[in-house]
Amino acid sequence: MVTVGITGGIGSGKSTVCEIWAEKGAYIVNADDLAKELMVSDPEIKEDLLETFGEEAYIADGSLNRQYLANEAFEKGRVEELNAIVHPKIPAAARQKMAEAQKKGYAIFVYEAALLLENLEPGALDYIVLVLANKEQRLQRVQIRDQSSAEDIRQRMNKQRNFEDSTDVADIIIRNNGTLKELKKKAEIVYEKFLPLGGKNGKKSQDE
Ligand code: ATP
Repeated sequence: MVTVGITGGIGSGKSTVCEIWAEKGAYIVNADDLAKELMVSDPEIKEDLLETFGEEAYIADGSLNRQYLANEAFEKGRVEELNAIVHPKIPAAARQKMAEAQKKGYAIFVYEAALLLENLEPGALDYIVLVLANKEQRLQRVQIRDQSSAEDIRQRMNKQRNFEDSTDVADIIIRNNGTLKELKKKAEIVYEKFLPLGGKNGKKSQDE
């Protein structure tokens, strides 16, 4: 199995590339979804969230009170408290997903995260893919996707690193300034490069 990390700024097209790869048979793990999953499934995280954010963090059926937590984190400036509870558990959970993918015989494992470069453990993934798109295009695309204001999106963008300065750490760069059809073609070309590296048994490093 070959392991791939994919990153890029808000609205660059990471999830779209992952959807294309998923259709072709890759095992995809999205860091945000993994965090949300852990907030429900990990008893220690649950306990810490209840202690820090109160009973309102969960609703009666045990599911996460997303609206409340999002409001506490982003409107009340408590995002670091939330991250301090969840982030330390992410690497092990990602490794577990990787092991699951390997066991199930997937050739390609993909980990999608906006903060991949900040949180990457050395040697954790075989390849890094960076998706880049012009700021104005990203803004327009996210405005359509999220129905949010340009002002809101600009604020979110300004909190992120400038990915144009991170090209050195990427093994592959996908520029997403064209149409969706063009993105699909590029994503498929990259996928075809990874596929033979996935082999049948184990990671690239074992095949070399
Ligand atoms: P985020 O970090 O916010 O999750 P992302 O990098 O995962 O963003 P996507 O959700 O894949 O970005 O793309 C943002 C939006 O732009 C989506 O609605 C997607 O369908 C659309 N999109 C992506 N690429 C293109 C393109 N080439 N042409 C038109 N729309 C696109």
